[in-house]
Amino acid sequence: MGSPPQLSQEQRAQALLKAKLSRQERARVKTLYKNNEISFSEVLDLALTNEAIAKMRVLELIESKAGVGKIRGKALLEKMEISLTRRIQGLGRHQRTQLLKEFQAPSAISRGKLVVLSGPGGVGKSTVAKKLREGSPFVVSVSSTTRAPRFNEVNGIDYHFFTDDLFDEAIKRGDFLEWAEFAGNRYGTPLAPVEKALAAGESVLLEIEIEGAKQVKKKMPEALLVFLEPPTWEELVSRLEGRGTDSPERRAARLALAQEEMAAASFFDKVLINDEVEKVVASLIEFASA
Ligand code: ADP
Ligand code: 5GP
Repeated sequence: MGSPPQLSQEQRAQALLKAKLSRQERARVKTLYKNNEISFSEVLDLALTNEAIAKMRVLELIESKAGVGKIRGKALLEKMEISLTRRIQGLGRHQRTQLLKEFQAPSAISRGKLVVLSGPGGVGKSTVAKKLREGSPFVVSVSSTTRAPRFNEVNGIDYHFFTDDLFDEAIKRGDFLEWAEFAGNRYGTPLAPVEKALAAGESVLLEIEIEGAKQVKKKMPEALLVFLEPPTWEELVSRLEGRGTDSPERRAARLALAQEEMAAASFFDKVLINDEVEKVVASLIEFASA
């Protein structure tokens, strides 16, 4: 084999610049793909006219997708009998069809935003959630709970009211995205409707307590965690008392819990002060469309 051609200094500089521009272009397209701003088939189309993309390894593209990553990316290519070093320009027709089947459908629509609203009991979370249910871009998740319905609550609208046995079965089946115990009752977010709405590109709001919010962040790190704070502690006490839905013992327990809950704000991505419900609602809608 002959030795490689000797490049002049200028040719070397040009080759380096070209390689750098190609890397930048690939990074740009991978970011667009990762953020669902272009679909898998659009990347394939782009490769027809864009040399940098044509020469990108298929593995490099698919592993950039959230939920795919290096290990799953390799496993998928191996399952499809596509070489791990195959470049987009080298894909055969059958391979393109296989890849499109795997990657096109979910990325054709960009996923909706998941916003988690949390904060101390009595701060006004369910008041805000109710407003958002009445008309907003959000699908507001309906939780399941073992708590008894309050006089003004409707099964299937405010909560799905479960017996302890039903709740146990739902946990066993893996029906919940998260669940937690709060003030002697259990509460859980049904996973299926949340997944369905997000996949259809709809924004979803969960109104849940803090431990549940932490679980959601672990499972879906893209979720935006919003902490609702009262304007003052006295206002929180007065809201809990004013709500008139809890017995004095229950109220005392909820106040003690609220004191602990107030300390969790730093874990959250955003903090909103609930001085006016309308303002909180407007901020949440803004987060969904950001
Ligand atoms: P949480 O769901 O956080 O436990 P709620 O939504 O039940 O709290 O609100 C507790 C009480 O505070 C309710 O009586 C509600 O009407 C009242 N409230 C909620 N938001 C506000 C607000 N911005 N200003 C005044 N009162 C409010
Ligand atoms: P309440 O009994 O006042 O309706 O709710 C008590 C607490 O449970 C509130 O802080 C509320 O946000 C929270 N909660 C409601 N649904 C869920 C849920 O599905 N999961 C978790 N972890 N908490 C929930």
